[in-house]
Amino acid sequence: MPDSSAFSGSYDEARGKFLEAARAAGAALAHYPHPAGENLHLDVAVLGARAAPRMLVIGSGTHGIEGFPGSAVQTAWLRSPGALPSGTTLAFFHAHNPWGFKRCTRVTEDNVDLNRNFVDFAAPPANPGYDEVHPNITPESWDEASIAATFRWLDGYRERVGEKAFSTAFNGGQYAHADGIFYGGARAQWSNAAFLEATRAHAGHARQVALVDLHTGIGPYGEHVYVGFSVPGTPMWERLRAWWGERAVNGQGITHKALADYRGILTDAFTAALPQAEVTTAVDEFGTRPRAEMQRASMAQRWMRVHGARQPQRLAQVQAEYVEAFYPADPRWRAGVLEQSREIIARGLAGLSST
Ligand SMILES: [Zn+2]
Repeated sequence: MPDSSAFSGSYDEARGKFLEAARAAGAALAHYPHPAGENLHLDVAVLGARAAPRMLVIGSGTHGIEGFPGSAVQTAWLRSPGALPSGTTLAFFHAHNPWGFKRCTRVTEDNVDLNRNFVDFAAPPANPGYDEVHPNITPESWDEASIAATFRWLDGYRERVGEKAFSTAFNGGQYAHADGIFYGGARAQWSNAAFLEATRAHAGHARQVALVDLHTGIGPYGEHVYVGFSVPGTPMWERLRAWWGERAVNGQGITHKALADYRGILTDAFTAALPQAEVTTAVDEFGTRPRAEMQRASMAQRWMRVHGARQPQRLAQVQAEYVEAFYPADPRWRAGVLEQSREIIARGLAGLSST
């Protein structure tokens, strides 16, 4: 049996394991407390000489619940740390969205998708597609009949507008429906500000910086895929390909027929926060369920938040389904995440030190 001991059943447990492993590895620690209290933090652990010119950042929990596997990746690495190339530090950002991590949901305290929240709120982007989608995917009762009706409507919408427009409408991010899905918010979230503060504090001096933001829910079961936001032929695209191979830029394994035009994503904000550096960013997704099931989970999250309290029995069922969609219990899936991410980190360090 693979060793699953780096994985946890709660945010508190995950944080405890992470901090313990970080201290044992001799990492320098910094803590950013969430105003909700409850011992929620963005925690940062840095290994290596503070003033080194190169830094690799491994981030987890941008989408709360997806922090369970991301945290395990970080803890497992810290428990058996590899050697760092000279002049290179490795930083783990643990739980970008600790509030969502604690409650086993993707969103923040304001129902906000942190990975759509890095926009200019003086002029938030419009998403007219979502305006049309919203009333058709928000039933008061979340049962097999209402779910089937929702998918019938979505199928018709997709046929009408095409895959790309469908993806952008559904999950590209929207700023007009605070009780909707993939809501980008009306203001910068605490997690947004804390992430940028930590980024500047720990990477603000470095000349070459890379960020790998760990997620789950896109891609074939148990495999990792790179969701690329780099433009082909640019220096960053070349670095991604050189460091992590063709799959880092060719969309291999992405289970969406067409990716949305995403707004306000964290990796772009990371780059913007470090004007002094050459920055390389990657979003690594570990696949769990087929796309339709992940869409179902997104809509279920919204139902749980808005209507769930009135149907406690159904809520418990839907919540269990939701957790499994982002954090599979299967020990082989978990072992695969650790194995693949260890290689992702090793290649990131090697690539960074070769620049
Ligand atoms: Zn995610």
